[in-house]
Amino acid sequence: TDWWHNVGIAPKDPILSITEAFFADSSPNKINLGVGAYRDDEGKPVVLQCVRDAEAKITGCEFLESLSRQGNVKLVEESAKLAYGENSDVVKEGRFAGVQALSGTGACRLFAEFQRRFRPESQIYLPSPTWSNHHNIWRDARVPSRTYHYYDPESKGLHFGALMDDVKNAPDHSFFLLHPCAHNPTGVDPTEEQWREISHQFKVKNHFPFFDMAYQGFASGNLSKDAQAIRIFVEDGHLIGCVQSFSKNMGLYGQRVGCLSVLCMNAKQAIAVKSQLQHIARAMYSNPPVHGALLVSTILCDPHLRNLWVEELKVMVNRTTKMRVTLQKNLEELGSPLNWDHITNQIGMFCYSGLTPEQVDQLRNKFHIYMTHDGRISMAGITTGNVAYLANAIHEVTK
Ligand code: PMP
Repeated sequence: TDWWHNVGIAPKDPILSITEAFFADSSPNKINLGVGAYRDDEGKPVVLQCVRDAEAKITGCEFLESLSRQGNVKLVEESAKLAYGENSDVVKEGRFAGVQALSGTGACRLFAEFQRRFRPESQIYLPSPTWSNHHNIWRDARVPSRTYHYYDPESKGLHFGALMDDVKNAPDHSFFLLHPCAHNPTGVDPTEEQWREISHQFKVKNHFPFFDMAYQGFASGNLSKDAQAIRIFVEDGHLIGCVQSFSKNMGLYGQRVGCLSVLCMNAKQAIAVKSQLQHIARAMYSNPPVHGALLVSTILCDPHLRNLWVEELKVMVNRTTKMRVTLQKNLEELGSPLNWDHITNQIGMFCYSGLTPEQVDQLRNKFHIYMTHDGRISMAGITTGNVAYLANAIHEVTK
């Protein structure tokens, strides 16, 4: 007899199942606001020109072993500069253990595994709410997780006081996952001043800050500005962990390119940490794939392609920002009695709309508009062509 006959169907991923339902819908008006992937004003996925150019540049090269190793080293080095700054001492002194990872998800998983091995007594605090997969990742790595206050439904902004209380009340040496910019799902980030206070309190408590940076550049259009939180913590002398993903800011979802870096006291320690991270990866997937890493390192190392990337990043941010303004304006013009300021106050890929699960269901059933049950709207799914229809639908279910 088979031994897997009692295997039931796994729970569906909340975001992937929305995409499935969207594709099954035959309405010409349908809108997918579920998936956090950039779309142009026609609603089409975008391959950035810098990626196309990099692709042309590396054609035929990626199977050369020496080149692939170089690509990997360059990727890690350039990613570290993106996170910590072009002239960062951390990078100059080699005080970080950096490895290429299977995008943001793989980097989180690798770190969670590392955490369980070398710090089994520490749990991880995740923001409430957070990207739902964070819970799965640390659960599967068998690291206990808790949540800390983050979003305030009342103000539709940051619950800073409650966040600070949780930081203070957590046992010393706790691990905290922080989104350095463009928080998913809320689009709400601490201010610079608040980051400084958080960093200070982390010092007092000896907490370990673990930054998951899936949207660098997507919050402000400026790569350094979006890394500000990380730089504040490093300036304050924290040894941090940092995940970087190129899925969103380079549109490379399918390539799975990312980086994990862990800051260390010195270069010697960094070598040991890096060797352990590679040792963990070795048993899971040996090495990450080469092609995407070569694309990213080619873009980051070529001044022309890099400038092109920065320009294209701005185009993406400007488009989503414009859609925020237009959506809010449309709702106000329809005479909505509600306050929609949070649409333009929040930043990045998402708007945490405040729509209730019932209203989300109505949008889906009556208007063929798809989003997660928490009311998270992926701004990238809104276009000049559908924003008026969307505003009207939201008005209809909220008035
Ligand atoms: N972290 C956060 C906060 C995210 O929003 C995402 C993507 N939704 C990821 C990590 C992982 O993305 P990827 O594995 O595609 O890099």
